[in-house]
Amino acid sequence: MRDVEERAEAVLAQLPTYVWDQDTLPVPVEDIADTQFGLLVRDVEDMASAPGAPLVEHHALSGLLLPARGEIWVNAHEAKQWPPRRRFTIGHELGHWVMHRAAGQQALFCRVNEAEAKARDIEEEASAFAAALLMPQWLFVREHARAQGDVATLCRTFGSSIAATQRRIASLF
Ligand SMILES: [Zn+2]
Repeated sequence: MRDVEERAEAVLAQLPTYVWDQDTLPVPVEDIADTQFGLLVRDVEDMASAPGAPLVEHHALSGLLLPARGEIWVNAHEAKQWPPRRRFTIGHELGHWVMHRAAGQQALFCRVNEAEAKARDIEEEASAFAAALLMPQWLFVREHARAQGDVATLCRTFGSSIAATQRRIASLF
C-alpha cells in the first residue's frame, strides 16, 4: 500500500494553496473533489436510482463514482448520521477516480462501511487512499504527538471516524 500512500500525497502536494495550504485540518476533501478534479459531490437519498445500481444491495451502498458524469454520490442518510463517513466515502471515491477509472467501468458501486469492507483489491486501495488523503502521514504524526495519542481528539482534528482513526494509528505506529 506504500504506492497508494504516495499517490495520495502527490494529490495533496499538487493542490493550489487556495484549495489547501498543506496544514489546515481537516483536509477539505469535498473542495478537492470539486475544484481539483471537477467532480460534483451529490448527497442522494435513493442510491438505487443510479443507472445500473445493483438491485439487491442498494440499501447498503455508501457511495459510488460515476466517471462518465463526473459525479460522486454519497448515501444521504448515512452522511447525515455519520459526517466522518461522508468524508471517507468522498476520499474513497476520489481514490477510484485517481487510480482505477481507466479500468473502463461505467460506474463503481461502493460499500465503504468499515464493518462491511470487502477484500477486493481496488476497494482496499481506494480506502487506503482515503485514509492517506484525509489523514496525511506527516500531519497525523504531528497531531498524534500533540494529542498524546488521544483518539477522540484525533477524530475531531481530522474529521475522521473512530474506526478509521484507529486503523490509521495501527498502520503508522
Ligand atoms: Zn469503492
